Amino acid sequence: MPQSMLEQIKEASKGALVFCFVGVGSAFAKKNDQTSLIIAKDGKTILVDIGTTIPMALNRQGMKVFDFDYYFFTHSHADHVGGAEELLLMSRYVMKRKVPLIITEPYFGILWDQTLRGGCEHNEEPLLRFSDLVNPMKPIWVQSQPREAYRIVVDGIELLIFRTAHTPGNVKLWEEGFWSTGILVDRTVLFTGDTRFDPSLFVHLRVENGVRAIFHDCQLFSPGTVHASYDELNTRLRSDVKAITRLTHYGDTFEKFTPENDGFQGFAKPWEIYRWPCAKEAKAPADVQDGAHTTATATSTDEGGEQGTVGS
Ligand SMILES: [Zn+2]
Ligand SMILES: [Zn+2]
Repeated sequence: MPQSMLEQIKEASKGALVFCFVGVGSAFAKKNDQTSLIIAKDGKTILVDIGTTIPMALNRQGMKVFDFDYYFFTHSHADHVGGAEELLLMSRYVMKRKVPLIITEPYFGILWDQTLRGGCEHNEEPLLRFSDLVNPMKPIWVQSQPREAYRIVVDGIELLIFRTAHTPGNVKLWEEGFWSTGILVDRTVLFTGDTRFDPSLFVHLRVENGVRAIFHDCQLFSPGTVHASYDELNTRLRSDVKAITRLTHYGDTFEKFTPENDGFQGFAKPWEIYRWPCAKEAKAPADVQDGAHTTATATSTDEGGEQGTVGS
């Protein structure tokens, strides 16, 4: 019997970090599902974002919303959390388990009170709390400046979670924006989540220091307001950064673009497996700039299992 898509992803992740996008579309795309990412390493999986269309997209590949080892949501737009209620309620009533959710302390209350509570709280008496539905795995705060960041290691996969400048429209700095995050995985692969064009992001994350691939959100029309526009990325990103960048979160006019001809890696494609073999030897961590996070050990990302193993 041929391997299922999930089995293929897990197989590819033996000795490697794997990214596989369930969807690569924008919030309102119809040709692609909304941007959602499966991260895998040594057979363990994290589902990053579960937008409104994602439960159906998973279903078409024989997967259920509760098939993953961990979950992480970048922010509260429905193209990122619209399927979260299904995940929570299916997990409680079908799987009889709490959702293993990686969620920072500040976002825990925001996500429950402003998004999930209305559909979840009143299903039982006494009323359900967020902690009845999820097993929160809280990353450790790393730094507030120059960019707020948190860190967690689950089963050997390290997530550095950082704030992005996404909404409201024309927000200049991440500090002025509503809660929105991206992730740097194992210090090597960057997924921006939703962000405006924000060159300081690359400086703060020291992208030159070991980042091997970037998946950047991209709006195909100009001007960019709450997302980075194709024109901004095309004209303002350095060529060496473009060369490792694939575009995600794009709209339905993508067939008119050939990002490879403009120096990008290309568009990220749904269900394509992107794979980076794990280095045998521990490498020095490429720290975020100027933060309190200075003493993470070089081996901590490879030992795994432990939450929030920041060195200081
Ligand atoms: Zn979005
Ligand atoms: Zn968004």
